[in-house]
Amino acid sequence: MNPSALSPDQLDLQARARELAAGPVAERAAEVDRTEQYPWDTVELLKDAKLIGMTIPKQFGGQGKGWLDAVLAIEALSSACAVTGRIAVETNMGAISAVMAYGSEEQKKMAADMVLAGDKPAICITEPDAGSDANGMTTRADKRGNRYVLNGRKHWITGGGVSRLHLIFAKVYDEKGTFEGIGGFLAIRDETKGLKITKREPTMGLRGIPEAVIDLEDMDVPPSSLVIPPRGLKKGFADLMTAYNSQRVGAATVALGIADGAYQLALDWSEKRHQFGRPINEFQGLQWKLADMSIKLSASRALVYNAARSGEGGFPDMLMAAQAKVFTSESAIQIVNEALQFFGARGYSRELPLERMARDVRMFTIGGGTAEVLRNVVAGALLKKKLPQTRDGWDKA
Ligand SMILES: Cc1cc2nc3c(=O)[nH]c(=O)nc-3n(C[C@H](O)[C@H](O)[C@H](O)COP(=O)(O)OP(=O)(O)OC[C@H]3O[C@@H](n4cnc5c(N)ncnc54)[C@H](O)[C@@H]3O)c2cc1C
Repeated sequence: MNPSALSPDQLDLQARARELAAGPVAERAAEVDRTEQYPWDTVELLKDAKLIGMTIPKQFGGQGKGWLDAVLAIEALSSACAVTGRIAVETNMGAISAVMAYGSEEQKKMAADMVLAGDKPAICITEPDAGSDANGMTTRADKRGNRYVLNGRKHWITGGGVSRLHLIFAKVYDEKGTFEGIGGFLAIRDETKGLKITKREPTMGLRGIPEAVIDLEDMDVPPSSLVIPPRGLKKGFADLMTAYNSQRVGAATVALGIADGAYQLALDWSEKRHQFGRPINEFQGLQWKLADMSIKLSASRALVYNAARSGEGGFPDMLMAAQAKVFTSESAIQIVNEALQFFGARGYSRELPLERMARDVRMFTIGGGTAEVLRNVVAGALLKKKLPQTRDGWDKA
């Protein structure tokens, strides 16, 4: 992007994030991947650099920054370490942004305090039998007296086991057993009774953040833990999912950052590596690869930045966020794969970051809405039609 389109504050933020990425974040990236340990030391660095919770409004201790500010930081961090980029996503977007937009004053204060202290909230939607079809979730919250009791299983929950704050989605039933809508409940690991982390998934990449199964066994919470958007519980899931558009832009940004990091490595290596008595970038076969990679990067960056900008004062536009995530995630996989090819055998070694980047980047056409399902979102928005996917044509919720 033309740097003149960024404000002086944004250029400063980008420079700070790039410095951190090139220094301590890059130094730790391979070890974080190898040890599969959540990088608490990096979280401290992000806190010190004020890159955590920056989108939280000032009255709750944050900086009130916009989505594009967060995107600039996430892109820079992800070019060195995708795990660090994801921590920046989930402490600025997704669950925290849903609470800051729709929570009660008490909920906002609690969530903001936890994130600013370094907690990465977990958002719990997916279940073993309800992935793309999130409305098909079976986790239920039953009203019993002045409490809600939740039962069900969530899986592939990012941060399960390290996150403290959880936003857990469940079908809500009143005391008579009547379905009221899908609601999001706040719960705190190790404090809320019945919230259990029962398995860590052995993942292909992004190994520094656990993906976990969470079992809710008579999880007991007061009604004040329910986040209720202005249109009420009936439209609660749809409204809370608008906040998810910020997370989709964040996920696209991590993919963009990984791809940019891999591209820069390939560009640099193409000058250093000589074969047949000349730098390999003198071969047209590789020049065209570099050209294609840079075209995809520029197009991805434009989509991501525009989607981020569309959310000023609210959440990013659903169509723009979906377009950005589909294109960027698919392009990033191609770019990283090509970058690895530039290194020949060396690219296949765990001594270089390319193989880690190739594993990390593969996730982004899956998590946060698959590329196929997001194409349905794009088509639905273009055609201005609800495109139900069930056989009888109606959502089960
Ligand atoms: C690393 C990682 C982190 C994640 N983090 C979280 C998290 O923090 N919280 C959370 O709640 N979830 C999380 N997820 C889950 C993620 O959101 C789901 O994996 C995703 O929504 C897809 O669901 P599924 O895996 O059950 O695939 P399925 O829904 O079973 O899909 C299988 C295949 O069918 C395709 N498909 C399904 N329906 C359609 C359709 N209507 N049209 C066309 N194709 C279709 C899909 O695109 C896919 O290719 C994470 C996943 C990963 C990999």
